[in-house]
Amino acid sequence: MREVVVVGGGPVGLAAAVHARRAGLSVLVREPRQGPVDKACGEGLMPGALSELADLGVHPHGRDLAGIRYVASTGTGVTARFAAGPGRGVRRTVLHDALAARADEVGVEVDARPVATVDDAGDHVLVDGEPARYVIAADGLHSTVRRLVGLEGPAPSRRRFGQRCHVRQAPWTDVVEVHWSPRAEAYVTPVDDDLVGVAVLGEAGSRFEDLLDDFPVLRERLTGPRTRVMGAGPLRQRARARSVGRVLLVGDAAGYVDALTGEGIALGLAQARVAVDLVALGDVRGYDRAARRMGLRHELLTHALLHATARPSVRRGLVPAARRLPWLFSSAVNQLARPVGRPA
Ligand SMILES: Cc1cc2nc3c(=O)[nH]c(=O)nc-3n(C[C@H](O)[C@H](O)[C@H](O)COP(=O)(O)OP(=O)(O)OC[C@H]3O[C@@H](n4cnc5c(N)ncnc54)[C@H](O)[C@@H]3O)c2cc1C
Repeated sequence: MREVVVVGGGPVGLAAAVHARRAGLSVLVREPRQGPVDKACGEGLMPGALSELADLGVHPHGRDLAGIRYVASTGTGVTARFAAGPGRGVRRTVLHDALAARADEVGVEVDARPVATVDDAGDHVLVDGEPARYVIAADGLHSTVRRLVGLEGPAPSRRRFGQRCHVRQAPWTDVVEVHWSPRAEAYVTPVDDDLVGVAVLGEAGSRFEDLLDDFPVLRERLTGPRTRVMGAGPLRQRARARSVGRVLLVGDAAGYVDALTGEGIALGLAQARVAVDLVALGDVRGYDRAARRMGLRHELLTHALLHATARPSVRRGLVPAARRLPWLFSSAVNQLARPVGRPA
């Protein structure tokens, strides 16, 4: 019997699989999509995500990011530099290739069938009828496993969506720019020497092009040809708990608040590491608590910012306020940027 089946071969699932192999466990990844897998994402790897990847021996190509800049509709802004070293803008396809190559190198097997059933069998789990000692579910925002094992939380009342495209032109900045309008935010992430990612977050029912009209200063900057738009959402997903029995949820499958603060990959990679540590010990009872604790800092800050910025008046005043209190802005950015689940 396999020790671990990882459901989902996104960044978090592949990271879990590499950790598992390095801990000497037999592991199978179930991922139906053929690589390199793309996804709607802001593609900003926070410094914490980069250090998790480096620990795995994964060094994806991209553009270094020195910090985060909030920009008002007038074009004025405020920048917070990362204190813990740079982050990196990395195309999802590049990240997938780098993790998949590392997984292959350490002997991870991949099976292209999607998982349809997960059943608790006491001292093991049946995944589509095949036994495994543990299941690590990294099957994303709309996790099938979360639903199958009864961990799906209540549907969110507020429904925000993300849409993203790329613009082929040289980046003009070495930070992630977050442009604010009364109803949406636009995230600009340099991901290569001739490629800039633009992700827009807003309420349901808005087209990418219409939302982009909210940002005339940014629109003027975008001079190159654009790729097609990809979307994702609703962003808010709840899990009643992060584990039950021998099934552990990691990454977006474990619940997601919003892409507003851009730490999803860092948090997911840290959860993958901790999940495998506990699986290797043969006692996963502490996982739910550990995963909850790891996500708390991000959850609180993201919820607070989301709640505050639900009002257009606050959104209009946000950048001027951050300019008046740059130390506070910098402190919040660095709380989110620092490594997850490791000593400060
Ligand atoms: C617009 C937007 C902007 C974002 N910006 C950032 C950012 O700048 N920085 C950041 O860190 N995070 C960002 N995020 C969040 C980030 O994209 C996610 O946190 C991250 O992708 C989570 O990785 P994952 O591996 O958990 O899930 P995913 O990347 O979604 O991977 C899940 C995988 O599971 C597979 N799968 C699904 N169902 C099954 C099944 N039944 N059986 C087998 N496999 C299955 C899918 O094919 C997929 O490959 C953003 C998100 C959005 C929507």
